[in-house]
Amino acid sequence: MPSEGGLTGPLSEGAAANQGHPPDAALPALRLTEEQIGLLRREGEVRPVAAGEVLFREGDQGYDFIVILAGQVVIMDHQAGAERELAAGGPGDFVAELNLLTRERLFTTAVVTEPGEVLAVPVARLQAVISQDQGLGQWIIRAMFARRQWLMERQTGLRIVGSRSSPQTRRLLEFAVRNRLRQPSNADLARAAGVGTGPPADMTYDVAIIGAGPAGLAAAVYGASEGLSTALVDAMAVGGQIGTTSRIENYLGFPVGISGGEFAERASIQVLRFGASVVLPATATGLSGDATARVIHLDTGASLTASSVIIATGVTYRKIDAAGLDRFGGLGVYYSPLGVHDEIHPGDPVVIVGGGNSAGQAAIWLAGRGHRVTIVIRGTDLAESMSRYLIDRIAGRADIEIRYHSVVRALDGSQRLERVEVEDLTTATRETWPAVALVVLVGAEPHTGWLAGSVLLDDGGYVITGPGLGPDTRYSSPWTGRQRDPYLLETSAPGVFAAGDIRSGSVKRAAAAVGEGSIAVRFVSEHLGRRAGFATPAPSG
Ligand SMILES: Cc1cc2nc3c(=O)[nH]c(=O)nc-3n(C[C@H](O)[C@H](O)[C@H](O)COP(=O)(O)OP(=O)(O)OC[C@H]3O[C@@H](n4cnc5c(N)ncnc54)[C@H](O)[C@@H]3O)c2cc1C
Repeated sequence: MPSEGGLTGPLSEGAAANQGHPPDAALPALRLTEEQIGLLRREGEVRPVAAGEVLFREGDQGYDFIVILAGQVVIMDHQAGAERELAAGGPGDFVAELNLLTRERLFTTAVVTEPGEVLAVPVARLQAVISQDQGLGQWIIRAMFARRQWLMERQTGLRIVGSRSSPQTRRLLEFAVRNRLRQPSNADLARAAGVGTGPPADMTYDVAIIGAGPAGLAAAVYGASEGLSTALVDAMAVGGQIGTTSRIENYLGFPVGISGGEFAERASIQVLRFGASVVLPATATGLSGDATARVIHLDTGASLTASSVIIATGVTYRKIDAAGLDRFGGLGVYYSPLGVHDEIHPGDPVVIVGGGNSAGQAAIWLAGRGHRVTIVIRGTDLAESMSRYLIDRIAGRADIEIRYHSVVRALDGSQRLERVEVEDLTTATRETWPAVALVVLVGAEPHTGWLAGSVLLDDGGYVITGPGLGPDTRYSSPWTGRQRDPYLLETSAPGVFAAGDIRSGSVKRAAAAVGEGSIAVRFVSEHLGRRAGFATPAPSG
């Protein structure tokens, strides 16, 4: 492992900043060991540097991973036109930040202040080291994340100026927060506006994954780790829906839960470690091409060519306008009844918002497991939106109450949700009810608008895959003449797969999305002819 040395410059402070230290605390230094530098020497080139030499400059895109062997390098940026020194590093330090791997534009400048010698490792060679040497690779990536954090704490980049109530300001703020940038740089905003770089124009990826939620992230990790050239595209940020939750309590391997932000960050590290190209922010606007090459059109004006595609664009659950809703995401607010019962105690009161069949089924299911359920609907008649058989079953139960012409206005609790405030719209009076779970079932929008006409969708707009595709699809073009039926997660277009919440009939859970993302890669390999078909193990004996 890299040693803790005697560095004084903040170049080394990032790692500790990530451990929760205040921005200006004195932080331990981290340095590459001689052994590690020796390993990197095999991949790079040693060259002398003169005082005043600029190693990279704000606005540049792409640079080498630089290890300082002798001399000193200072990192600086500009705030309101004034130059600001951020960090200084000496022998054993490396000069690189997360943007080296994400290929974002730079928002800092590195200048040699004392002449010496550096080792410059091209990014492609660094990627190889990262995937071959787990210890060093993980440490370098963690240090890069830590430096990003450290730079955020020093407010590098621009301020977003705008009205709190403006949707445009809120969109930019969400982009900044979801990408863990408190003050995004010019380059970030330029990319957010669709200006900036896209994927390499001259490359055909083995697989392009659209959507970097749990399904897309898992697909990217499995794709890149199996040696497929992999591009991962997202309109907003890595993490998808799960990146917006304060805590996931039911994900295997995290007994005390994990925050959505940490889940996204850990997954990003894995994706980058295996060398997938991450293209964001970029929204897919169309899909064209045929089974030999698919073209994904992006809102940046660029396009991406790939031999196969995994659609993992997920859904957006419709929300209700209630104070505190986002605060209790994953802490009592659910957009599906699945898992609610596992996370609360028998008898705990549950409030369901919505008057559709999903609300009716959820109410019966939860009441059947011992919970007191109240359904809150804005309308005055369930028959407008719910099937008769569900209405009848609800009517026969004393443990389900329906509050008509009512809306949930606010949520409250200390650690988790404890109560909700409900307004009766007829009398304009409000009551506070105990509730440990609020299940919001007012519909979801699948992100399939960009796929219009290219793959078959079900009535709700979700992507149909595998067995869901009827004979009409399987016995017509482009499937006629093929020696196989669509794979389990394959869409009506050969070589185009779907995984996670976007898939028709999907379970709408993070673990299911991760599972489907990884399985989809197996089918991609089959489609590309990198694997023999699935074999059934022969019985032994
Ligand atoms: C508040 C909340 C709490 C939750 N808590 C839990 C929990 O505790 N446990 C659990 O198992 N599940 C939980 N879930 C459900 C879980 O988050 C989802 O099932 C899971 O995120 C689905 O993953 P996905 O990759 O299929 O899609 P998503 O997570 O929806 O990701 C889709 C991604 O695609 C991107 N995208 C969309 N359209 C485009 C486009 N045209 N171009 C490029 N990118 C695009 C989006 O920006 C997004 O990042 C929760 C969901 C919510 C909303």
